[in-house]
Amino acid sequence: MSVPDRYKTILLFGPPGVGKGTQGKILARIPGFFHSSTGDIFRNLDASSELGRIFFQYSSRGELVPDDVTMRIWNQNVFANTILGLFKPYADLLVLDGLPRSVNQAKVLYRYADVLKVVHLVCKDKESLFERMRKRAMKENRADDAKPDVIRRRFEVYENETKPVLEFYPAEDVVEVDAMNSPAEVLHDILGGLVKMQDAHFNKDEEAE
Ligand code: ADP
Repeated sequence: MSVPDRYKTILLFGPPGVGKGTQGKILARIPGFFHSSTGDIFRNLDASSELGRIFFQYSSRGELVPDDVTMRIWNQNVFANTILGLFKPYADLLVLDGLPRSVNQAKVLYRYADVLKVVHLVCKDKESLFERMRKRAMKENRADDAKPDVIRRRFEVYENETKPVLEFYPAEDVVEVDAMNSPAEVLHDILGGLVKMQDAHFNKDEEAE
């Protein structure tokens, strides 16, 4: 199967609980966007398989799954979606939610993804993120959000390992969006940063045909 050298990609970036998944799922409904969430990929693994156990071992402590495992599973998942015809790499923009979460992952991802924009969801109020995650844990039965000390660890990991990823991308490719507004307003702001780029991507395709 023919795939492009590198997928045209948008990153949804930000701390745990900021709404990357909510926005990613909405974007996925727009033709031309394909949403890929590493958290969802991991949660869909068979919990009794070796990989499922590895995921639980790390996520239940608020830690990241090791980079090599993460990149391998993500790559296989994107390929599987391509084979199934759900992701059309030449036509779709890939929306990554939860990847990369370390500078090492960003370096590996460079081989596969041409990152056109980084949408940085910003939230100045950590307490409200904490509260969102606590509610989500009850609704979705998530071990990584269930205990306050695990949530705290997730924020530490974000500050130490994930936030430096922002430096990996040129500042002009990063758009900041205030994540504390309503989901509709956050979506509006994200689209404001992406519409021109999606147009350019589609126009380029038409010219090439
Ligand atoms: P949230 O939506 O709260 O930011 P996710 O659903 O994206 O969290 O991720 C849940 C868990 O899956 C993380 O705590 C982590 O253990 C694991 N995980 C997700 N993405 C990655 C990644 N890129 N690298 C390593 N671990 C990851």
